[in-house]
Amino acid sequence: MPPPALVDLRSDTVTRPTPAMRRAMAEAEVGDDVYGEDPTVVRLQDQVAARLGFEAALWVPTGVMANEIAIRILTRPGQEVLAEERSHVVQFELAGMAVLSGVMPRIARAEDGHLTADDIRAARRPASYMRSDLGLVVLENTHNFAGGTVADGALMRAAIAAAHDTGVPVHVDGARLWNAAVALGAPLASLVAGADPAMVTLSKGLCAPAGSVLVSSRARIDEARRVRKQFGGGMRQVGILAAAGLVGVETMVDRLAEDHVNAALLAQALAGCPGVQVRPARTNIVVAELAQRSAPDLAAELAGRGVLVSVMDARTLRLVTHHDVNGEDCARAAGVLLEVLA
Ligand SMILES: *Cc1c(COP(=O)(O)O)cnc(C)c1O
Repeated sequence: MPPPALVDLRSDTVTRPTPAMRRAMAEAEVGDDVYGEDPTVVRLQDQVAARLGFEAALWVPTGVMANEIAIRILTRPGQEVLAEERSHVVQFELAGMAVLSGVMPRIARAEDGHLTADDIRAARRPASYMRSDLGLVVLENTHNFAGGTVADGALMRAAIAAAHDTGVPVHVDGARLWNAAVALGAPLASLVAGADPAMVTLSKGLCAPAGSVLVSSRARIDEARRVRKQFGGGMRQVGILAAAGLVGVETMVDRLAEDHVNAALLAQALAGCPGVQVRPARTNIVVAELAQRSAPDLAAELAGRGVLVSVMDARTLRLVTHHDVNGEDCARAAGVLLEVLA
């Protein structure tokens, strides 16, 4: 008998470009984007800027580059960046803010991953010549490591206002802002209103092969373009990639609701297993904390049965639903989880 097909729940980044994206890529009108002459990139940037309610946008190859450009243009060396303890900029960017911008993270813990206005006010310190000052606040929505948790418009507005009250700008890491908007039934722009820059990713749930978009004022985006070049991210006929991103933005957002239903199913299966702590899934990410078992061992056991998950740390697994796994795949994966864990 052939081995069972794999259900790959490691990440929504494993999604492959759809046939419509392949066609759009093949037919994309292109130019040299370092000269600002790629019409497809310009169209994507204009569209994302409008959807998020900003003046201007910049295509960048990765989400990490978007975040690191945002940090560079809004801080000075020697400052601190306030971010949630498990946020992407703290955990998964290889100390990029220290290496590339000479700043260090100041971490705060929020159970659901979302720093509130109170958390931000509490981080304020009296001005002192002995202490570094806060240069930037980074908010992540949805919050990946906390389990795809969603911050609504009111929470985001209050947090952004609290930072601005202390004279500190805010960057929103919205790699999965699309998922937050779909879960809330709210416009994307309502979740980033007032942010200084914000970014969204095209290469996760939206299935494009690469790309993120940074949005901000025209002046900040001009500065961001210079930093992108310095970071080695000035690319040429990149409309071939932007074309896939446009298909993603135009046609792949609403269907994220299916991923959310599938994740809820997985979370429900896990919630019934002894020694597993999981929060009900609001979007496409399920983070499971294991009381007794080793996460790497369990991940290996699941892989042996055709279900791939990712290991976040010694006792934490992450399962992510996406376009390339359907309801049937997730039901099968839930069955395997129950067999292995119950
Ligand atoms: C994936 C991710 C990023 C980085 O995106 P890459 O394209 O992988 O560099 C940034 N922030 C969050 C919250 C993410 O999940």
